[in-house]
Amino acid sequence: MTHTLDVDVVVIGGGQAGLAAGYHLRRQNLDFVILDAQPAPGGAWRHAWESLRLFSPAAYSSLPGRLMPAQGGAEYPDAHHVLQYLTAYEDRYALPVQRPVRALAVHRDGDRLRVETDRGDWSARAVISATGTWWRPFLPAVPGQEVFTGRQLHTVRYRDPREFAGQRVIVVGGGNSGAQVAADLAPHTDLTWVTRRPARFLADDIDGRALFDTATARRRALDAGDTDTGGVASLGDIVAVPPVRAARDAGLLKAQPMFARLTEDGAEWADGTRAEAAAIIWCTGFRPALSHLAPMGLRGERGRIPTRGTRAVDEPRLHLLGYGDWTGPASATLIGVGRPARDAVREIAAVLG
Ligand code: FAD
Repeated sequence: MTHTLDVDVVVIGGGQAGLAAGYHLRRQNLDFVILDAQPAPGGAWRHAWESLRLFSPAAYSSLPGRLMPAQGGAEYPDAHHVLQYLTAYEDRYALPVQRPVRALAVHRDGDRLRVETDRGDWSARAVISATGTWWRPFLPAVPGQEVFTGRQLHTVRYRDPREFAGQRVIVVGGGNSGAQVAADLAPHTDLTWVTRRPARFLADDIDGRALFDTATARRRALDAGDTDTGGVASLGDIVAVPPVRAARDAGLLKAQPMFARLTEDGAEWADGTRAEAAAIIWCTGFRPALSHLAPMGLRGERGRIPTRGTRAVDEPRLHLLGYGDWTGPASATLIGVGRPARDAVREIAAVLG
């Protein structure tokens, strides 16, 4: 199919960030389309491992306009619940999402931007990129990675503990993913959990609510020119959601320091200690998925594009939404993306008149 369609705004990505943008674009009565590479709603939540739990209660995991309902008796909803919520959200606001459509490249085209996709081109006066990070898993370079004969996978490929039952497994990573995957595997495997620095659990009564408040307070302080309040990293790295808390309290979550290298059959620490492993699961984070923006040559440090708010500094018709604190405080969370989405759409509406 080859065509070029004209709209005011193209949103690239139909996960939560793209939908939050859509909500505000509707309110501003702008002509827009959301292009999403997935075959169905939900973005990255479609690919989460079975036992994943949100780190905030439902009411604190809501997009603008519509509260996420509680999930039965569960304090922290699972990914299936988020999928249902995002599907209903799209319906509720009749968001014009086209699937599956993958944006391949965004080009400057006179006073417009041309979004080249695998289903034809769209021409827009502004583009909101909301493609998330899940699609660019990050693995650190570790000596010996090529000699290890076991299985190596990133969090994005982890589903449930059954496929590792009875095996020796090393989980790498001291964030929420690492802790949740380690807690999931601990009862079923011979587990070694390694973290670059000692595992830092947040106090049991601190969850996504407090993280959001802290991120917002930090942004306000920085915007006002006050001293950096330290942000969420100062509180700890791991939210003690119930499965993590249970594994930790049962003594199953004892983090080891990071190993120095991989060997043919496992890992070796600097002092010569070794651990055999059939599999290594890297829960080592993500980078923003921005390759479709490469033709505009905007890339700055660490794979990011310099922004002021959500707007690309060197291309004012482009906004980046949902990738992390650099595109708005807590913007990579369900509850946090609403505000930067609103601000991005307001700026666009002002420019488009
Ligand atoms: P995504 O969900 O990744 O959506 C992006 C969409 O864009 C996808 O559908 C993708 O297919 C599409 N796309 C990508 N590239 C293209 C392209 N070139 N063209 C067209 N479409 C494209 N947040 C919370 O609030 N609470 C939590 O408890 C929580 N837990 C998390 C646990 C894990 C393990 C992870 C990784 C994240 C968690 N987050 C949580 C953070 C965040 O809410 C999720 O990462 C969320 O999926 C981010 O939404 P998004 O819309 O920015 O990106």
